[in-house]
Amino acid sequence: MGLFDVGILSRTRANFTGIFVGKRGFRDYNLGSMNSSISIQTEKPLADLNSFGIAALASRFVSIQTLAELDALRLNLKENASHEPTPVFVLGGGSNVIFPARIEALVLEMAIKGRALRAETESSFFVEAGAGENWHEFVLWTLANAYPGLENLSLIPGTVGAAPIQNIGAYGVEMQDFFHELTAYDLRSGELVRLNKAQCAFSYRDSIFKQAYREHMLVVQVCFALPKAWVAKLSYGDLARRVAENLGQDKIVRPSDVSEAVIQIRQSKLPDPSIIGNAGSFFKNPIVDEAQLKAILSRYPNCVHHTQSDARFKLAAGWLIEQCGWKGRSLGRVGVYEKQALVLVNLGGASGAEVRALAEAIVLDVQTRFGVRLEVEPVFA
Ligand SMILES: Cc1cc2nc3c(=O)[nH]c(=O)nc-3n(C[C@H](O)[C@H](O)[C@H](O)COP(=O)(O)OP(=O)(O)OC[C@H]3O[C@@H](n4cnc5c(N)ncnc54)[C@H](O)[C@@H]3O)c2cc1C
Repeated sequence: MGLFDVGILSRTRANFTGIFVGKRGFRDYNLGSMNSSISIQTEKPLADLNSFGIAALASRFVSIQTLAELDALRLNLKENASHEPTPVFVLGGGSNVIFPARIEALVLEMAIKGRALRAETESSFFVEAGAGENWHEFVLWTLANAYPGLENLSLIPGTVGAAPIQNIGAYGVEMQDFFHELTAYDLRSGELVRLNKAQCAFSYRDSIFKQAYREHMLVVQVCFALPKAWVAKLSYGDLARRVAENLGQDKIVRPSDVSEAVIQIRQSKLPDPSIIGNAGSFFKNPIVDEAQLKAILSRYPNCVHHTQSDARFKLAAGWLIEQCGWKGRSLGRVGVYEKQALVLVNLGGASGAEVRALAEAIVLDVQTRFGVRLEVEPVFA
């Protein structure tokens, strides 16, 4: 199987090794044995497994560390399907998910580990990681090994496997800019499928995994193409300023300098989920056409907006929310973060229902005032 091959792979052990062995470093992956057994827990507390800190309970829970365990789980689900079909909710690091008090599903934590340089060409490094690897640690590992490119995406919480789900992005870079391909496991058929960029249908905080592949396609491994000709991406004013402050104007900028600046900015602006529960930006920045923008600007001339490549305009959701007076306010045990109106925070003991209620109140207010419907970014399980 060549580096650029795409298609459906058989689910036999022979082909598992066909994918994973033979490329440099892949033998480190947790493939497990074919006779893997899995342990399904019941009534599993999820408070420590979601960054909003919601004290939810999962009726069933399993942590998957190998492909063989996935196979064993699929057989188990198939055997039980005749009397009671089991809904499955895939969980990564829980940083973009809002749980109800009780989730009547099998919560499947993707914990497949491993990271490696798969190949190197004249122009690029091809690096890959298992879905269960922590995203930020993976970014730091690429930088420590002199594979630059992902530095603008430093300190985004969560796992490598979840990064393609909403095509994570920050500071002028989206994951899709460096994505090469991924391997997904189809829970319905047991097949391993290799998908390239076009097949993943990435767009702003979206991909096929939030659409047609929702619920049954599990990302098990992701491969990135990192160009050797590195150029610092400093289109964000804040970032360029911070890098310059840290280095002085005449110094050469290295990828680690960009990463360090991104980390500093994020730490100063966003609440740390280990201290204040949150799910990062709660709403997507809405995209409007020229007529909508003109109508808004005629009433709010200082409305923050950015031109898109398709001649539409992205509005700043945080600015819209702030204009509606929500910044620093709360509803029940959920608040709008006082430093950034785009972030909802757990004020202590918040429930998923309270998060939903506040989000709905904000959506309604923004719609009423600006005629723009905000879309929620995290997933309500
Ligand atoms: C403080 C903070 C800052 C953040 N900043 C950013 C940011 O700058 N940019 C940004 O884009 N996001 C940001 N986020 C959101 C979040 O970090 C990302 O969406 C991240 O990719 C979620 O990863 P996770 O592993 O925690 O996924 P989870 O929250 O566990 O899951 C998210 C969704 O992905 C699905 N999923 C997870 N793993 C898999 C898998 N292996 N296969 C199939 N489906 C899967 C889940 O079912 C769910 O639908 C931020 C969050 C926080 C808390």
